[in-house]
Amino acid sequence: MKFSDFNITPEIIGNLKKLGFKKPTDIQFKAIPHILKKEDVLAVAQTGTGKTAAFAIPVISEIHRSKRSRRAEGVRCLVMVPTHELAIQITEVFKEIGRGTRVKTFGIYGGVKQDPQITRLQSGIDIIIATPGRVFDLVNQRYLDIRQIETLILDEADHMLDLGFLKDIQDLLRYIPKKRQTLFFSATIDENIKKLAYSLVSNPIRIQISPKNPVAKNIEHGVIEVKMDDKRFFLERIISENPEKKILVFVRTKVRAERVSSAMERVGIKSLTIHSDKDQDNRNEVMKKFSVGEVKILIATDVSARGIDIPDIDYVINYDLPEQTENYVHRVGRTGRGRNKGQAISFSSPREQELLEKIEEYLGQNIQKLSIEKEEYRETLELTGERTDWQKLMLEAEEGKKRKRKKKK
Ligand code: AMP
Repeated sequence: MKFSDFNITPEIIGNLKKLGFKKPTDIQFKAIPHILKKEDVLAVAQTGTGKTAAFAIPVISEIHRSKRSRRAEGVRCLVMVPTHELAIQITEVFKEIGRGTRVKTFGIYGGVKQDPQITRLQSGIDIIIATPGRVFDLVNQRYLDIRQIETLILDEADHMLDLGFLKDIQDLLRYIPKKRQTLFFSATIDENIKKLAYSLVSNPIRIQISPKNPVAKNIEHGVIEVKMDDKRFFLERIISENPEKKILVFVRTKVRAERVSSAMERVGIKSLTIHSDKDQDNRNEVMKKFSVGEVKILIATDVSARGIDIPDIDYVINYDLPEQTENYVHRVGRTGRGRNKGQAISFSSPREQELLEKIEEYLGQNIQKLSIEKEEYRETLELTGERTDWQKLMLEAEEGKKRKRKKKK
């Protein structure tokens, strides 16, 4: 199956070639023909499966074909996403896939000034990619008219519900025509998601992509048992042993992100942090620096994680295990994008044992345990560039105890 077998415009086929997309992924193969036929789609698919292009390709193609000029005559497609980063990223994908077509795409999200967004909107836009909150504000202030929407797309619907966007979505639906095409994407499915999905779609085509082993085959992932207080030494070691690698580190909270970053700074390792306390300009700058490799270590929380699509992340480190099991899949899925190989390592402390079991249950398989010999564990603590007197004392005390035990024997 080739992209040229789909009934899509040649400009897009050319763009896909330039992007290096040789053949459709599973979800693209299954969804594109139905979306082209204006049918509703309900898809359970994780990031990394190529789902963005699965909706971008047919939507852009159809709008391009139905337009006679480049002038937009009202917004025709609205893509709702949970986070700013995802909005930026999906807008980028739409722009790349739609290059040279008559279709204009624009991303709008909170956290940045509204005025420039309004100016752009007034210049005529066909497709809007947005977080629900900002769309709602703009619609309410009558800067944005969504009464002509033909296709409504909800991406990462489960994450939108997690973030409390249900009310915003429901409020927006009052402005969107009932007769429309709806494409609903979610990484997971439970009762709440189902309820929302079925309130939006009619006679949908259902598509489910590889629910059994949700971690892509090209990602090697393992777990090491590390005490909570020792985690930073292990992170330091991995970074020092892989100076050229781009590493994305996940932590549980914003405060921990800053703490881990400071700990790395103390041993001379430069890192960036991204979480919801940072304003949008700062987040954009951080993403850019990490993307071009100016700084190779990025420390992130789950909230900011889903939007990260940087093709060449070598390692994902789960410094803390995710509290929501499905986030394990989202996190490790940041590496091994497309056809690249990826590696993910999780640090699991005795306190996180229960979480680990839950994740394994969710995956339907055990995560490979990377065993560390006692000697190697100790060496890791000793190797740190930040050895404090206190640590030295602890190590000496350990040694002392061992010697005594030996003597007794
Ligand atoms: P997504 O699931 O939309 O987040 O896409 C995951 C990654 O796969 C992105 O980096 C895309 O650029 C890449 N990708 C999407 N479709 C294809 C394809 N047909 N061939 C190769 N890579 C693809």
